[in-house]
Amino acid sequence: MLETGVILFVSFGYMGLLFGIAHYGDKRADAGRSIISNPYIYALSLAVYCTAWTFYGSVGLAVGSGLGFLTIYIGPTLMALLGWSIWQKIIRISKIHRITSIADFIASRYGKSTTLGGLATNIAVIGVIPYIALQLKAISTGFLLITQYPDISAPFSFSDVPVMFDPAFYIALLLAVFAILFGTRHLDATERHEGLVAAIAFESIVKLAAFLTVGIFVTYFIHNGFGDLFQKAAVYPDPQNTLGAKPGSGSALLFDKYLTIKGQSFSYTDWSIYLLISMLAIVFLPRQFQIAVVENVNEEHLNKAIWLFPLYLLAINIFVLPVAFSGILRFPDGNADADFFALTLPMAERQQLIAMFVYLGGMSAATGMVIVETIALSTMICNDLVMPVLLRLPIEEMGLRQDYSGLLLTIRRCSIVLVLLLGYAYFRTIGEFYALVSMGLVSFVAVAQFAPALLGGIFWKGGTRTGAICGLLAGFAVWTYTLFLPSLVPAGIISDVFVTRGPMGIELLKPFELFGLQGFNQISHAVFWSLLVNTGAYIGASIFSRPRTIEHTQAALFVDVFRYSEEAGESHFWRGTASLPDLRSLLVRFLGRRRTDEALADYADKRKLSWNYLVTADANLVSYAERLLAGAIGSASARVMVASVVKEESLGIEEVLNILDETQQVIAYSRELEKATAELQEANRRLKDLDRLKDEFISTVTHELRTPLTSVRSLAEILHTNPDIAVDQHKNFTGIIIKESERLTRLINQVLDYEKIESAQMDWVIIATDIKEVIEDAVASTRQLVEDKNIRIDYELIDNPPLISGDRDRLVQVMVNLISNAVKFCDSDRGKIIIRLTANAEQVQVDVEDNGIGIRARDQNKIFEKFQQVKDPSRGRPYGTGIGLTISKRIIDFHHGQIWVKSKPGIGSTFSFSLPTHRETALTSYKRS
Ligand code: ADP
Repeated sequence: MLETGVILFVSFGYMGLLFGIAHYGDKRADAGRSIISNPYIYALSLAVYCTAWTFYGSVGLAVGSGLGFLTIYIGPTLMALLGWSIWQKIIRISKIHRITSIADFIASRYGKSTTLGGLATNIAVIGVIPYIALQLKAISTGFLLITQYPDISAPFSFSDVPVMFDPAFYIALLLAVFAILFGTRHLDATERHEGLVAAIAFESIVKLAAFLTVGIFVTYFIHNGFGDLFQKAAVYPDPQNTLGAKPGSGSALLFDKYLTIKGQSFSYTDWSIYLLISMLAIVFLPRQFQIAVVENVNEEHLNKAIWLFPLYLLAINIFVLPVAFSGILRFPDGNADADFFALTLPMAERQQLIAMFVYLGGMSAATGMVIVETIALSTMICNDLVMPVLLRLPIEEMGLRQDYSGLLLTIRRCSIVLVLLLGYAYFRTIGEFYALVSMGLVSFVAVAQFAPALLGGIFWKGGTRTGAICGLLAGFAVWTYTLFLPSLVPAGIISDVFVTRGPMGIELLKPFELFGLQGFNQISHAVFWSLLVNTGAYIGASIFSRPRTIEHTQAALFVDVFRYSEEAGESHFWRGTASLPDLRSLLVRFLGRRRTDEALADYADKRKLSWNYLVTADANLVSYAERLLAGAIGSASARVMVASVVKEESLGIEEVLNILDETQQVIAYSRELEKATAELQEANRRLKDLDRLKDEFISTVTHELRTPLTSVRSLAEILHTNPDIAVDQHKNFTGIIIKESERLTRLINQVLDYEKIESAQMDWVIIATDIKEVIEDAVASTRQLVEDKNIRIDYELIDNPPLISGDRDRLVQVMVNLISNAVKFCDSDRGKIIIRLTANAEQVQVDVEDNGIGIRARDQNKIFEKFQQVKDPSRGRPYGTGIGLTISKRIIDFHHGQIWVKSKPGIGSTFSFSLPTHRETALTSYKRS
């Protein structure tokens, strides 16, 4: 069944299926009914991380170094669980700034620098080529193996297979077609590729299912489950070790080697370093950036993906060790390539269907990676490498072209083909000599070089363009020297003396033992040196270089991305305006007329603008246009283009710093300001109230003074002009005069008392006082008032109440005030007042109850405040000053007592006060002022 023709048919059939799925996904997206907008598809598409390296290579690595293969999956798991906030931040920044690739991200952060964009692109392309080669090698090897069915061991060399007959070559071309069709449909790269993502998610399902199938087959059908397989392995001697083993050196058992992490070839240091680079790779590999960031539909999908994705990694790794053990047991003579045990085991067992499925799984793992990676790289090459060069061409030539969108797409398509051909070339010349994993790791180390500039860029405002350039250059140079150049040695491109004795015989410069550093494996060694010099150069140069204005603004926008809102974002830092037609034609050139119109209509819609009346574009619109362009041609080029039509009043560094400072502080300020304003307003309101009350007070007092004065004066005039007035008449008049004068005196005293109390200048005479006497005094001095209105007073007084410490005259004043108020608000003749005295050991209490008009609940608290009189139309104009109760309260307060009222309108009021009983010791404390 497994003839070459069938295999070819199935392979291309599978590719056809992928085309179908991608096409369907795109169609649904165009119709506005996305099939990828959910966290499960997002998590599955993230699994593009698992390539042929995982599918085939993990087993190979396990055979070589035991559990070490797991680091490549533990790293991303850690990153997903612990570092998701980094992801979230990168996604948010990229969405706001329409960032389309990792190179663009770095360029944009450091002042939209074309230099940096180009540098990062070069690193990405060169760094990832071996990784793409790995996939092509896996596809090719898989094909050659399965077509030799059932022979698994036939040694072959790729040099025997001419390119023309290498199916990997045609599959590479097919992949290029796929990437072109589904990855470069539109120009705006921020517009996601839904069909592509759908296809990638599907491939993730296929590769997982295939690996689980072969795992289950090996574990449960060839052997009797995990226990059985592990037991067999436990007593099996390590083939590699027994070959040249000296007695007692290292472990001689296979099992020991695989289930301990300190095997000779894989130390703890290696473990940690592999963990580190795989943590970085999951974020910085161009294809991961593409899927996780650029293709992200909704930030919230991340929340689910951070645990779904690690689950996927776990699932695809469960059977790695069983397959590895089983392969060693089944092919003890070592004539089968450990990298391909997953395929050769079912072949050896003559399970054609399983072998076929595994072959397809391997294809899906490899093709998914290649497709996404080439698309990601092509965007970078176009936006950050080719565009900046194009834009530097003389302006006239640029002017000739009306529409660039076609040109840009062509550049991207050519880049895809170019990258694939480079990958294929690397595989054909060099890949042959390396195991799959080693090739992948070389790429991991390359992309890890982005870490300092990128992580520094989103958390440290001090990172500068110069710093980033120095860091990347230094790191990349070390990578080239310690990994890339040595990888050319086996193919004979570079003499092996370079590795064994160092360049020109300088031992210190041996690429695997730089400066004499030993005890690392080649990868860890390269990671150590490259990241060390990279980080060092980045930080050092950042500290010693002066950032330009735009670097400052970008630094702030990136580091504080969650503070600056999407729309306002960049326009903070613009003052430029442009002519609208100019701006529009610029957009049309790169995006095409239709998409430009759509985008502008969208903008106008959101802001309720009408283009008919606009001729100039303001700063907001300009930065919107720049972001649109950035999506198409990268942020650096977009800036150059927009600058050409904008009359930019460039902001000085001082100004930008000011804006930054302001925006940061304005929020805090405005909050404080709001609070302060509210307080001020409240205080102002209170002052106004008081002012009004004082006016009223003055008018009441003068009114109160005038009434008795008028009667005193008119009576005195009568007496003066009629000296012979009748005696009883005379007596009557003088009586009134005396009473009115007393009233005047009382009033004036009240005001004076009030003033004294308020300014704390009252003299107090505190002595042990009998409250009953106080009451009697007060009743005596109000007798006239009471009798005038014919009001009845009842007394309910206990005998021998305890003494209190107090100023007798002042307390009498309080009582007089309460009684005269009660009289004042009672009806003549029907009025009735009860004066009550109660006491316990602690305190005495006096109540003055009347059956007068009463006080509404809402007024009951107010009347003790100064100048407050109850205003009620039914009462008419209140007479009195409004300070009687205030004075009473002050006096009672001074005695550490309490005063309050209970009242029901229409029924009556009870004013009460309580005073602590007399204590010898307490006396002194009262004797103040
Ligand atoms: P005034 O000199 O105006 O009476 P007070 O401070 O003694 O000033 O009283 C304040 C206000 O409390 C009075 O204007 C009145 O409206 C209300 N009030 C006081 N005592 C009584 C009471 N026994 N019955 C009804 N209202 C009262």
